[in-house]
Amino acid sequence: MDQELTAQLEQLRDQGLYRELRRVDSPQAPRVVINGRSLLNFSSNDYLGLANHAGLKEAAARATARFGAGSGAARLICGSLAPHHELEEALAEFHATDAALAFSTGYATALGTIGSLLGRDDVIIIDQLVHACVVDAARLCGAKLRVFAHNDLEDLAKILKWADARRAAGMTPVDSARTRCRVLIVTESVFSMDGDLAPLREIIELKEQHGAWLLVDEAHATGLYGQHRRGLAEAYEVADRIEIRLGTLGKALGAAGGYVCGSRPLIDLLTNRARTFLFSTAPVPAAAGAAEAAIRLVQSAEGETRRTRLWQRVDEVKNTVINAGWKLPAVRSAILPLRVGAEAQAMTLADALRERGVFIPAIRYPTVARGDARLRLTLSAEHTPADVAQLADALAGLKSQI
Ligand code: PMP
Repeated sequence: MDQELTAQLEQLRDQGLYRELRRVDSPQAPRVVINGRSLLNFSSNDYLGLANHAGLKEAAARATARFGAGSGAARLICGSLAPHHELEEALAEFHATDAALAFSTGYATALGTIGSLLGRDDVIIIDQLVHACVVDAARLCGAKLRVFAHNDLEDLAKILKWADARRAAGMTPVDSARTRCRVLIVTESVFSMDGDLAPLREIIELKEQHGAWLLVDEAHATGLYGQHRRGLAEAYEVADRIEIRLGTLGKALGAAGGYVCGSRPLIDLLTNRARTFLFSTAPVPAAAGAAEAAIRLVQSAEGETRRTRLWQRVDEVKNTVINAGWKLPAVRSAILPLRVGAEAQAMTLADALRERGVFIPAIRYPTVARGDARLRLTLSAEHTPADVAQLADALAGLKSQI
């Protein structure tokens, strides 16, 4: 086995696709210690700087002191601890939905949710750039999978027409509780590797015209957009027209886990059917406690202060990056893709930046398409103007190296 696997690893190395873990000897912060060196960190999804926040750490410690280190069992056995319930109540209140359900990760949330709603009679239509967890969920659920070109409404409309025709052809579902085949559209609101935004209003118009359902993954938007910082759906005033809203607790919320919020029947169905929920040990009390504290913090005046500071840094860094010769999406997000193309060149640039004391990782296939490698620069509310100045120095003259 080892011989065969070594050959496979060599192949990855030859293609510039080999990956290695980097041990970080410090908490998430604008500076992280890697290999004994302090590097300016532009790679974390800790957008609001909450992962190492005193309030979250205290909440995690409190939950651990009261409920222990582990949860002992799956939620439906004896692992449904008070911190999980408090977290779900806080999530439903934050998102102004009937109910919410917390999972151990965002990845598990997507797998469990899509798998509960769709089967082989149904159709799932996903944006070409959705996260791997949705792609995997779409494949696993057995529904007919169709992919629309990224943010391309015409392509989506074409596929919806095809789905209508398929429905009209009388493919009746086997399950007597269902009245017809289901069609589910899935998109991200802010795309994880490109930092651009989905045209949610237009997608909603289309799904309503065709009687489809919509799942929106707000992983990179929760905490950042909208009056109450609920996400892009709030900012676009369409939240109550989306059937299924999915999020993660591990990015702007600074903890770990994933969730769905929506109607009572949706949450009850997931509680009964989502396999990643049913058959997995409940998240540790510390994670639920920290996440609940984060949701309360995001809604407070401090949440607004942090969001405002983040957007200030984003605007400054966008100018810096554009001055250094890169093109960026016009929209505002905390993710700035510095597109390179070839995998090896992206690696060379990331190495050169590290030499200059700045950590921005090269993102390669299979996270993005082959030949579309980039440096993925992400910002945190904890970054300072001095950090932006150091970044500007590090980026100076770098583009001419490729
Ligand atoms: N959706 C998107 C868009 C993501 O970027 C991620 C995390 N990379 C996930 C879902 C999965 O969330 P988690 O990390 O909590 O498993």
